Parts: sequence; structure tokens; C-alpha cells
Amino acid sequence: MEHKTVRDYIRTIPDFPHAGIMFRDVTTLFADARGMRLCIDQLLAPFAGLHIDAVAGLEARGFILGGAVAHQLGTGFVPIRKKGKLPGPTFAQDYVLEYGQATVEIHQDALAPGARVLLVDDLLATGGTAKAGIALLERLGCEVIGCAFVVDLPELGGQAALSELGVPIHTLCAFD
Ligand code: 5GP
Repeated sequence: MEHKTVRDYIRTIPDFPHAGIMFRDVTTLFADARGMRLCIDQLLAPFAGLHIDAVAGLEARGFILGGAVAHQLGTGFVPIRKKGKLPGPTFAQDYVLEYGQATVEIHQDALAPGARVLLVDDLLATGGTAKAGIALLERLGCEVIGCAFVVDLPELGGQAALSELGVPIHTLCAFD
């Protein structure tokens, strides 16, 4: 196919990780040289010219994207990890999953207060994960200048959930 879009590189795996879930698999996007470059360029486009001190990424696919985005911007990268993975003193934030709850953490000294941060992840569903990430960054006194995702699942309401926080949201494509 000529001029594939970012969406065209994403593969759908039915019934993963549970029956009835259509998993949007971005590994096929990351594995393609043109797809990866297109994706990183498009994630950054609306933030061009803004002052950004650091990029934060949500585990795990947000690390792959966030590292590339940080390199392109010439900033550092800060991981927001699942509970128990970061070695130093952390702040933790719980959030609700479809079944049960989860916790993400950030190093307490990861960023200076006032730092302007771009938060990156692969996919926005309910917005719970991103909301927890924003809460951690704000706990450090940072300003989250935007959130960038490759995929939006609009039916799950993530944009609405995040809109009340007043953080600009950027997504590259959507799936039903
Ligand atoms: P949310 O917290 O917005 O409900 O879910 C978003 C998180 O779940 C993201 O960190 C994302 O990586 C993961 N996620 C949920 N569903 C999918 C999916 O279909 N594909 C991918 N790549 N990630 C998903």
C-alpha cells in the first residue's frame, strides 16, 4: 500500500488478553522503520515550538515512544512504572482498572518542580492510566503541557476523563 498511515501499521489481535477484547497491537508499527518515524514525528507535531523540559512515558510501550520523542526534542526521559520496579524512593498513585486496581510510581527526585513535561503512551482507553501519570507528575510540582497517544479508543471515554484536568490531548488515530 502506498502512503500508509500510522493506523495502517497497527495490527488487531482478537481475544487478547481476554475473550471479546480486540487488542490494538502497536509492535507492527514500531517494527517498521517508516511507521516508527511517522509515528514519532506526528506525536510531536502539535508541541513543536513549545518549551518542554522532559518527556515522561507510561510502562511499557510509553517507554519505547517516550525515549524516541525525548531524543527528537533533545530532552531527558522519565519512566512512570508499575509498582515495585523503581529502585529509589517513589510516589505512588492507585487507579481503577476494568477488574480491580493498579498502582504506578515515579521517582520522587525524577523532575524539578516547575518542569514542563510531555506525557506519552501508546493508547488511550478509559484514561485511568494517563490520569494516574498526570497525578504523579503534578505531585512533583511539574506542569503537564500535553499528553500524546498513538491510539484513541473513543468509546471508552478517555478524552472526556482527561478533559476535566485541562491538559491538551493529542492522538494519532482511533479504533471503535
Ligand atoms: P486506560 O488506562 O486508558 O483504560 O488504558 C490504557 C492503557 O492500557 C495503556 O497503558 C495501554 O498500553 C493499555 N492498553 C489497553 N488496551 C490496549 C490495546 O488494545 N492495545 C494496546 N497497545 N494497549 C492497550
